[in-house]
Amino acid sequence: MFLVLCKIVKSLKEQFHRHCYLLLIFLRQLPTLFQMDGRVEVSREGKYLSTLSGAKVLGELAILYNCQRTATITAITECNLWAIERQCFQTIMMRTGLIRQAEYTDFLKSVPIFKDLAEDTLIKISDVLEETHYQRGDYIVRQGARGDTFFIISKGKVRVTIKQQDTQEEKFIRMLGKGDFFGEKALQGDDLRTANIICESPEGVSCLVIDRETFNQLISSLDEIKHRYDDEGAMERRKINEEFRDINLTDLRVIATLGVGGFGRVELVQVNGDNSRSFALKQMKKSQIVETRQQQHIMSEKEIMGEANCQFIVKLFKTFKDKKYLYMLMESCLGGELWTILRDKGNFDDATTRFYTACVVEAFDYLHSRNIIYRDLKPENLLLDEKGYVKLVDFGFAKKLQTGRKTWTFCGTPEYVAPEVILNRGHDISADYWSLGVLMFELLTGTPPFTGSDPMRTYNIILKGIDAIEFPRNITRNASNLIKKLCRDNPAERLGYQRGGISEIQKHKWFDGFYWWGLQNRSLEPPIKPSVKSVVDTANFDEYPPDPEGPPPDDVSGWDKDF
Ligand code: AMP
Repeated sequence: MFLVLCKIVKSLKEQFHRHCYLLLIFLRQLPTLFQMDGRVEVSREGKYLSTLSGAKVLGELAILYNCQRTATITAITECNLWAIERQCFQTIMMRTGLIRQAEYTDFLKSVPIFKDLAEDTLIKISDVLEETHYQRGDYIVRQGARGDTFFIISKGKVRVTIKQQDTQEEKFIRMLGKGDFFGEKALQGDDLRTANIICESPEGVSCLVIDRETFNQLISSLDEIKHRYDDEGAMERRKINEEFRDINLTDLRVIATLGVGGFGRVELVQVNGDNSRSFALKQMKKSQIVETRQQQHIMSEKEIMGEANCQFIVKLFKTFKDKKYLYMLMESCLGGELWTILRDKGNFDDATTRFYTACVVEAFDYLHSRNIIYRDLKPENLLLDEKGYVKLVDFGFAKKLQTGRKTWTFCGTPEYVAPEVILNRGHDISADYWSLGVLMFELLTGTPPFTGSDPMRTYNIILKGIDAIEFPRNITRNASNLIKKLCRDNPAERLGYQRGGISEIQKHKWFDGFYWWGLQNRSLEPPIKPSVKSVVDTANFDEYPPDPEGPPPDDVSGWDKDF
């Protein structure tokens, strides 16, 4: 942390003086963090809000997220301020995280009990190591005491002593220094300490620590990650490719608009001459994708959806492109968005929420076992098929991760993002478990737990954690217990990410008696059966006027050649 601070301080660069406007923050985007002495006044739209003095941090969330300022800050005395730009802060945080991970992983490699573990397993363990500090003379471990923690020295020296049975004197055994470790037997179940470990260095000792429970949970969850890569998926894909090989864009007839996404519309279409079925055609403006630099995300969306073969994920049959648009021809889900049903009903009861949550658990099980993170869970992205089963749609933020690695892109919907995403600490599939807890809460109450009047406020509330949220009475004890276990601040502690993986969620008390097998073979009766009269019935969707912007400009730059 000290290193991080030094680097941040190095980049601090601005000084402001009395009566100069520090920031005309409203409607401006100055992604800067300030720490100050002196006095400033906070106002909004000309209205005085408060006065701040002494060492305070201003605009702290702007360094995490590109957003508009919500207040004006004026210096009323001479002020000294430090500033840091978002880009700089995020680079430092990311680099520091990576350096720390590499350093810890190297430490772990030198420990005999870890030496046979794979690199990605070591990376996972290094993520849960905690650094602890001791003063000279502290007993880090006391002979005869019970303990379940394992230590690696990252700084300083310790003295190892053993109390003599006869004289009761402490006999010096040896010194241990950086990279040495002790207490490893605790990880294997022996909890009685056989020696004293005493901090020797005048400047203190730092150790990386892991406890038996975390270690065991991680190791067995890593062991249990199921690699269910099956030939079945590949066969199904070949069949689909064959079936759709000769279908061209010109063969598609637009029936109606189903929805509007970030890059364009989703139309209900039929293939000429076949009235027995319909499809959803998502069309995305290439120029807009380029403008928002989403090329990589779109390619990944096509790849992940194209390969997925899961009944809880909307199927992608074929893609097309022309000068203006990219197109994805998908299975149509005519039951509408879960969001629309939730809006109309206000909230769902326990059993209804359980059914929809279970569908998402199945989809996550499929994705996570292939190390794919979804990153955009919300009721808008859950579509009902004609039977009432829910499917995940919109894979614009989904990403395949290398095992044990993290990703850093800030994405998702404010109310659903996990704290580690906001803090740019790097995230992985555990961020999806956080959003699953948020979804449960929203389905049960009609509103997500972390809701502010703007994204900045929402992030602030998220960073305060789930324990600061009041749970309405209609959330049962078992449901709130599961939500709290999913929305743990520490990603490694979230249910689903621990020993047993996602089956820990399926085994949770809230799901007691739930017929998982019936869900998987679609024999379970869904709680809400949508009315879908025909393959072209769009009654479950809102109505959309024609696109007011008209056709986008051509883009023939070729970035989409593999789409
Ligand atoms: P997207 O751009 O993927 O977020 O899609 C925008 C909206 O279009 C969704 O929220 C749905 O309302 C609708 N939509 C997308 N895909 C489908 C589909 N396969 N079947 C029915 N409606 C869809």
